[in-house]
This record gives sequence, C-alpha cells and structure tokens, in this order.
Amino acid sequence: PLPRRGAGGEAVTTCCYCGVGCGIKVTKDKLGRLNVSGNTDHPVNKGMLCSKGMNLHYTANDTSDRILYPEMRYGRNQPRQRVSWNAALERTAAVFKTFIEKYGPDSVAFYASGQCLTEEYYVVNKLIKGFIGSNNIDTNSRLCMSSAVVGYKMSLGEDSVPVSYDDLEIADTIFVAGANPAWCHPILWRRVEAAREKNPDLKIIVSDPRKTQTCSAANVYLQLNPGTDITLHHAIGRALIENGDIDSAFIKNNTEGFDQYRNIVFERTIAEAAVICGVEEDQIREAAAYIGNAKGFITMWTMGLNQSVVGVNKNLSLINLNLITGHIGKPGSGPLSLTGQPNAMGGREVGGLSNLLPAHRELSNESHRAEVEEFWNIPKGTISAKPGLTATEMFDALESGKLKAIWILCTNPLISLPDVRKAEAALKKAKFVVVQEISNKPETLQYADVILPAAAWTEKEGTMTNAERRISYLNKILDAPGEALPDAEIICRFAQKMGYHGFDYKNFSEIFDEHAALTKGTNVDMSALTYEILKKRLTVQWPFTQLHLNAHSDNELASGTKRLFTDKKFYTPSAKAIIHSFEDNNRSEALTPDFPLVLTTGRIRDQWHTMSKTGKVNKLKQHISSSFLEIHPEDAIQRGIGEDALVVIKSSRGEVRVKAKLSTDIKKGVVFLPMHWGKILNNDLNRANNITNNLLDPKSKEPDYKYSAVEVSAYKKP
Ligand code: SF4
Repeated sequence: PLPRRGAGGEAVTTCCYCGVGCGIKVTKDKLGRLNVSGNTDHPVNKGMLCSKGMNLHYTANDTSDRILYPEMRYGRNQPRQRVSWNAALERTAAVFKTFIEKYGPDSVAFYASGQCLTEEYYVVNKLIKGFIGSNNIDTNSRLCMSSAVVGYKMSLGEDSVPVSYDDLEIADTIFVAGANPAWCHPILWRRVEAAREKNPDLKIIVSDPRKTQTCSAANVYLQLNPGTDITLHHAIGRALIENGDIDSAFIKNNTEGFDQYRNIVFERTIAEAAVICGVEEDQIREAAAYIGNAKGFITMWTMGLNQSVVGVNKNLSLINLNLITGHIGKPGSGPLSLTGQPNAMGGREVGGLSNLLPAHRELSNESHRAEVEEFWNIPKGTISAKPGLTATEMFDALESGKLKAIWILCTNPLISLPDVRKAEAALKKAKFVVVQEISNKPETLQYADVILPAAAWTEKEGTMTNAERRISYLNKILDAPGEALPDAEIICRFAQKMGYHGFDYKNFSEIFDEHAALTKGTNVDMSALTYEILKKRLTVQWPFTQLHLNAHSDNELASGTKRLFTDKKFYTPSAKAIIHSFEDNNRSEALTPDFPLVLTTGRIRDQWHTMSKTGKVNKLKQHISSSFLEIHPEDAIQRGIGEDALVVIKSSRGEVRVKAKLSTDIKKGVVFLPMHWGKILNNDLNRANNITNNLLDPKSKEPDYKYSAVEVSAYKKP
C-alpha cells in the first residue's frame, strides 16, 4: 500500500454512492487504513448502511488502481508520459486558448458528474459560463434526473423537492412508480419497511414492468407494459375524480389547469386504460381508493419515469396525482423524486447543467444573467443566453467536429452513455481530450491526451446534497496517493493558468461561502450556512437562512427547512401549481418483426454505476457476479433458450452476449439487462449500452434507456 499520512482518529462523512445520503463514521488505524460504520446521529440512516456503504472502506483502502501522476502525450499515436502538474495544466490551457480563439468558446466543453462535490461543480460551472463564455457544461445527471428537474419546474415553478424522508414515516399511502428502492435506495426503503412494521395500514402501490424486491411489499402491484405510465396515472386520476376523492378547494385556490386535465383523463375509460397498461381494471381502482382514503400520500419515482422519451410528461402525470388530491406542502404528503447519485441535487443548486445558472436561476432570463455576472465580477454580457450542449449532444458535436476539446471529470461515459459505440467513435475523432479521474481502469483513458489524477472520497473536503435537500459535510480523512489533487483544486489551478481572476481560493470553505452567498434571496437560499455550522449541526436542509441559523437547537428550524410549500404558495408567477395536460402517446423506438422485444436496463443491488469502485470489492460480487439477461420463460422457450444459456441480444446498433436468466418476474415481451458491466472488468460484449437507443425526451434531453427494440437468440458458435 502507498503511504497515507495521518494515523488514528475518527471522522464523520457521507456515503459517496446513492442519493439517499447516509452519514458514515470513519475510523482510521495506525497504518492509516479505514473502517466504516453507519453514523447513529445522522437523521437519514440512523446508523444503518446498505451493502455498498458498509464496504466503502475496501475501495478507500485499495489504491492499487489509482492514477498517481499527471500524464500527457503530444499526438494520438504518441505514448503518454508522466509530467508535472504545471506542464499538464499549461499545455491544456494553451490548447483550450487556441481553440477558443480560433473556433469560439463553444468549441470546448466540460462533462462532469453527479458524484462531484458541490464546490467542484461550482468552480467548473463558474469557469465555463462566467469566464470561457460558453454554457457547454453538462453532467451524467442528465442521464438520470433531468426529466424530474423539468417536471418540478413546470408544475411547481422551480426544481424543488417539497418533502423530507421523515414524511415517508407519516404517510399512509406511498406510490412507488418506476423505481426499485429496495435495491437502489436501500436505506430509504428500510425506513419505509420500518414504518410499515409500526403502521400495518400503510398502503404501498408499486408500478414496474419487472417484479422487483420492492414489489413484494406492495398492496397493489401494477405490472404495467413499458411506456404506459402516463396512461396509468391518468386512469388513477380519473378514478379519483369519479370517486370524489379530490381536494376541490386546493384545486380552485392553489392550482391551474384542472378543467383541461379532467377532459384529458376522461377521454379514456379506466377499462380501456387497463388494457393498454396490461393490468387489471380493479387494480387501478384499488390503487385510486388507497390514494383517495389517504391522509398523507407520497409519490416516489426514479429512472423508470425519468429515462424516457416522454420522461417529463411521466413526471408531470404523477405529480398531478398529488396536486388534484391536495397532497403537497403538508406532513406525510408530496412528490419525492429519488436521485440516483450522491450529489445530483448539489449540481442543480450551483446550476451545473447546460441550461441553468446558479441557485436555480434561468439562463434565458437577462436579469438572472446580469445578477450572476455582477456577483462574479465579470463584464456584462459575458454569460451567453444560448443553452450549451447536453450530455449526448456533446458527443454528437465531437463526432461532427463542431466541438474540438472535451474535459471529462468523475464519470465513465464509455459505459454509461446510450448507444455507446457512437460516443466511442466521437472520442476517437476528438481533437483534444482531458480526463480527470481517480482510477486507471475507465476506457475513456485510452483516448486522453491529458490525464489528471484526482483525489477520491475521504481524500478531499466538501459538501453534497441528497434527494431531500439535505446538505452534508465530507471530511478529508486521508491524503491522496501520489500527486492526486482534489477536483476543485485542479479546476482552480487550470482557471488561473487561463489567466482568469476569482479562482484563488485559500480553501474549500471559501468556495462554499461564495456559492452560498450567491443563493441569497433565492428559493435555494443557504446564505447563512458555513462549514462551521455544518460541522456543528452535522447536516441541514435548504433553504437555510438567518431564521434557521438563529433557531434554538431544540427547534426543528435549526436543521433548516423540512418541507416546502406549507403556505401553498408555489414558485410559479401566479403562485399556483400547474396541473399539466397532454396526450399520453409514447414516442419510444418502434418494435419491428426483426426487433420485437422491449429492452429495459437498470441496476442490481450490490453494484454502483460502472463498477469502477464497487467492482473492486469481492464481497459485492457474491450477490450477482456477472451480467445476465432477464427474460420471460415463454419468450425464452419460443427462441430455444434455456436457463444459463449464452444468448445474443441484438438491436439495430449492436449486440450484447450474456447468460439468460428465465423469470416470470419480468413481463412477457420485455427483457432486462443490468447497466453496470462493460469493458472495465470484462470485454465489451456485456456492455448494455452497445444496444440502447439514442432517443431523448425533447424537454429534458434525457435518454430513453428503458425502451429499446431488440431481439434475443441462443448463441451459436461461428
Ligand atoms: Fe450509501 Fe445509498 Fe447505501 Fe445509504 S443507501 S449506504 S447512501 S449506497
């Protein structure tokens, strides 16, 4: 092992995997090796950790795959060589300046990650939008929650999650749509299970084409056909209206758009909707009855709704159920979008997507741009009103030659992007690629002209925000190996090489203070928050203003804002929530005789994203050790496929080869592949994104990972 300075002691930090945001206690032995346990004082997990969290120390202690020094090459066919930080950043700055001068600021881009800390997100967003003068920054969060961002904005006026996890424990009906929290947000689901143990009357409704572990807890399990979520939500809406189970006063006083909504949902009978969705009419009526009888009703969703060509409309149709029943802004009620990544929410706070500005300001709003320009002390008009390239658009622009240089930090696009071979071809054509990474495994590295070694979890200081607006502090516990540096420091050093002012922070706390000050007076206001307060109070929820700062420690306000919209004033111009209406046609890829099955992709319990961290832990391979195709037995028999047989899954874009797992838990006509595997640990034939399509939701630009047309056959030796 490499020397890691500092011996002994205990520190608190936050899990770096999912958006639940569990608190962790870390102890360090005399050799500097870490051990982890759940933090019993943390309000999210109260000491619990899931299999991924409780094995985090293995990834932190194992530095065998770490990148230790900057590397650089002068031509695609030249070998990369170890260089100094100075040489790497000076050359990168020279290349960026050349492209910007010759082709304009939009010739360069940054592709970041929902795993970046808020401070890292903040400086990279400031760099490109405020100083380079382009909005070409996007993150892998585009691939998982951008539909939820647009959904919240359109219905509530801003991207603001109204509820707290505590609300799950006081709700009496929870509708889980397109999510498997039992595997993907395990500690949050454990809290729901504990709430059910205390209150056996808690009703759980789950909709998902796959019968997952979450479904086993359901009072009503709706195994709907892929892509029919809006039809289902509309049918439930119609049943609620028919039964008189809506909140007419709330609709009248606090919403807009109900009449049009009623017309749309009454265009189809519940029986017709049931046929389209492939569920029983009685199940829809039962689900509606549970919602109608609830005093507290929570909707909860994730990728099954978001990752779709109609992802935004799926979000809106679900949020509508909260709005027509008035179940928002009160204890035990509201729409809760679960974030996949640990800091997807923090990235949204700083405006780290190609169409946003800090603190939920709008790029298209002239006065918002002027506010940020003044704050950053840059000339008026520097921030462009034109939205930048989104995640998949960046790779398309590299392919077409419009984009010359890309800087990839903290993400592994050659496993995670849809139709990934297209992205690979684009990176091959790129003029200049910078990869800022901790591990020497990701495939992206082979295309890098410059590799910058980054510090990992526990090796840097900063903050993250979980899915309930809860900000937690992460301690620096270990020194990074070799010459690896914290991501924010790398970006600031580069900005200074570019000659920009405003990046000479003395420490990370100064970056946080600047970000917090920029939120002052907005709906994300956390201007009263500092590292010192976070260290004392452990974690708080935004907004966090002077009111919260001054609150006595016994007062709930001392922990920030538990619930939004308790005054029923929404962030829309009219202060009313908007009930949106739209047709429920799915525009996903059409099935054909050659590709008659729907492929949906997703996660398994013990792996995280592209496995660059969890893939190193042997214990985590015990649950499921290799990729597989889940297929209904009737579909398998029809194709001469038996259990464990090697199969070929083909789409018009490529193929995947894995073993078949026959299961009646998946709907006939649908097959499932895990998203984790790829070239890193095996060969690329188990990479699910070889065959996914590149269609996007037109509003959120989120890809349609849950619906690709494929065919499956038994593998035959050539
Ligand atoms: Fe980490 Fe999520 Fe597991 Fe909590 S539930 S320990 S945040 S992976």
